[in-house]
Amino acid sequence: NGQRLSENNGATLATPVETDWNDTISYIIKNTLGVWCKPQKGRWELAKIKATMGEEASVMLSDGSDFTISTRELLPANTESFDAVDDLVDLCYLNEPSTLHNLQYRYNRDVIYSKAGPVLLAINPFKDVNIFGNDFIKAYKEKTLDKPHVYAMADAAYHDMVKGSGNQAIIISGESGSGKTETAKYAMQYLASVGSQNYKIKTKLDQACCILEAFGNAKTSRNCNSSRFGKLIDINYNAEGIISGACIKTLLLEKSRVSQLCRGERSYHVFYQICAGAPPVLKDMLSLKMASEYKFLNQSGCLKIHGVDDAHNFIMLVDAFDTFGIPHEVQENVFELVAAVLWLGNISFAVINKEEHVVPVADEACRSAARLMGCKMDDLTELLSTNRIDIMTTPLTLRQASIKRDALAKFIYESLFNWLVEELNTSLKGDKQHSPHTISIIDIYGFESYQKNSFPQLFINYADERLQQHFVRHLCKLEQEKYESDGIHWKNVEFEDNQECLDLFEKKPMGLISILDESSNSSKATDETFTDEIKQHLSSNLCFSCEKRTFRVRHYAREVLYDASGLLEHNSDKLQYDIIQLLSSCKNPLNHLASGVMNQVQTTSQSVVAKFKDQLFKLIQQLENSKQHFIRCIKPNTKQLPRSYENDIVWEQLKCSKIMDILQISKSRYPISFTHQEFATRFGCLLSDNLISTDPLSTSAAILQHYRVPTQTYRVGFTKLFFQQVDVLENLRQEVLEG
Ligand code: ADP
Ligand code: MG
Repeated sequence: NGQRLSENNGATLATPVETDWNDTISYIIKNTLGVWCKPQKGRWELAKIKATMGEEASVMLSDGSDFTISTRELLPANTESFDAVDDLVDLCYLNEPSTLHNLQYRYNRDVIYSKAGPVLLAINPFKDVNIFGNDFIKAYKEKTLDKPHVYAMADAAYHDMVKGSGNQAIIISGESGSGKTETAKYAMQYLASVGSQNYKIKTKLDQACCILEAFGNAKTSRNCNSSRFGKLIDINYNAEGIISGACIKTLLLEKSRVSQLCRGERSYHVFYQICAGAPPVLKDMLSLKMASEYKFLNQSGCLKIHGVDDAHNFIMLVDAFDTFGIPHEVQENVFELVAAVLWLGNISFAVINKEEHVVPVADEACRSAARLMGCKMDDLTELLSTNRIDIMTTPLTLRQASIKRDALAKFIYESLFNWLVEELNTSLKGDKQHSPHTISIIDIYGFESYQKNSFPQLFINYADERLQQHFVRHLCKLEQEKYESDGIHWKNVEFEDNQECLDLFEKKPMGLISILDESSNSSKATDETFTDEIKQHLSSNLCFSCEKRTFRVRHYAREVLYDASGLLEHNSDKLQYDIIQLLSSCKNPLNHLASGVMNQVQTTSQSVVAKFKDQLFKLIQQLENSKQHFIRCIKPNTKQLPRSYENDIVWEQLKCSKIMDILQISKSRYPISFTHQEFATRFGCLLSDNLISTDPLSTSAAILQHYRVPTQTYRVGFTKLFFQQVDVLENLRQEVLEG
């Protein structure tokens, strides 16, 4: 009878059993069970039914107050023995308040992990909880602990791999700030220690994260340590299950953040770390000032993060570089480029003629940038005041020159990031030939929506949408297969899918990505022609609506309003030839190391988003070829606060991500199963002896027939019987046993 309520709890599945609601109410009263109700709109409270008058019930709240409410607005509550069950599937009643209550009950006791059928839920504690570290790793390794935990999931992946079920993938999803990156680190911590006695690889993986976070994470308004790139870490194992090496793959870094910040946000951590923590000698060498002196950093009015010590983190970063054996000269080269980017941002321009052409002011900024990049100041000045194509040079206006300056800074930073990832990989690479197995940990961007949403949000939310579809389809398929392997065929259950939204992006020839791609490659396209195009071609899509300079997309998570202006500019990644020429003549050795990346940029004509889509598809392909383990991170409040659990916010995430549907499928299908023999033995007492046969299946069939168990509530498989519920039979059996 829990199923009767599914229409009230946001699940979109059809309800298979129609028991009478009044029967449920009578059952609740008879057994003095609790109910959930909302006395004041918005908050679920536990109550007891005192009496019913037709459709109305008089109920009493826990504080003793009572009131009258329609029985239709009540939902059954689980008895206290269900408080804190590890897996939500085991709740007798699976409705909104019961689910939220269970998770909150656990969360209040620092139990941040729960299962939702096949998925591990992780609710962000926003504080240290004492469930991590070596003692816990040991306990999960030795199986003395078996509560839901990221360690338990990592352990399952590891053992699946060792037992020969091939490559594994741990896929971590959730909104921005929900805890994906932290969870990924714990998974890695476990996998590093279970597959190796050797602490070197464990330290290296930790330090790789430290380096990647310094260069690829930043403070946003959702998360003080938000990853601005997608990441997949492959850990390779040899035939004995011992780690042989690892490889980090990254997806698209948000490089616009280098030159442009929203209010209250920060650029990449490394900039602040170096300004705060570089020792005097290095500071001198880089002509470094305080962070507040740099335009790229001071534009957003936010230089510090509460509780974060940038100077200390700089020391940690250098430590990490040392662990990786990156020589001090090379580290200096890295810091020179970081400082060069900061100085480039401070370059200002002076108008030199009536046509408003500009040249960079020959000040400290320009001098320092040129020196740190290792080029002549004259060359940098020329680059930033003219466009040169072959022998033709055209002077630039202030706007053009500023865009070019920013493009140069962003390119240097992106190349540096990619170069670092390559360096880390060279050092992490083990013996590839003797590493037949891999466990991958996937931590990519999570859904985000701000007041103003632009290119980064568009690709982040597109990636999130892609992964969400993979998540739902995969899990439903798994469930389906469980029954099919016992010879039971289903009609596929239909539930809301996000295909429409993905079509909006991916449809050919005219989806958002193709239009964006084409417009970026056309010299005539402008923000206006782009907006016209999408309006014309995409308006029939139900997830899309277009206004003047903005458009809305109905994502599975929420609707987002995007700003159409600037998308084209962000999307076209063609670097001017003269920039490349200058960079390859620079004396900073890293400019040469980055030239490999540079060549790659030049040889492909795809725009950013088209390239990104290819990367994403490759990633999903890799997942399809692995055994997958899913973790869903949930944020309990939007303020990044500990001890604050807001029902609405948690519910929103459970519902949108389709966790509730996955749970319904796991549960409302046929969650109870008996082998033919088990069933015949258990319920045989309900039949008179002459109806009992030596064949357990015949006995089972006789029981089902005799008690008129509705045929839609059970399935008969080759080896087992599957039931939605057996309450009625259990009650009868109890009566018989009690004589
Ligand atoms: P996401 O990657 O999903 O954007 P993060 O993993 O960066 O989110 O987590 C955001 C913040 O939440 C972290 O900086 C940390 O303060 C906190 N946090 C996340 N997971 C945990 C955890 N297991 N224990 C303690 N704090 C956590
Ligand atoms: Mg992250």
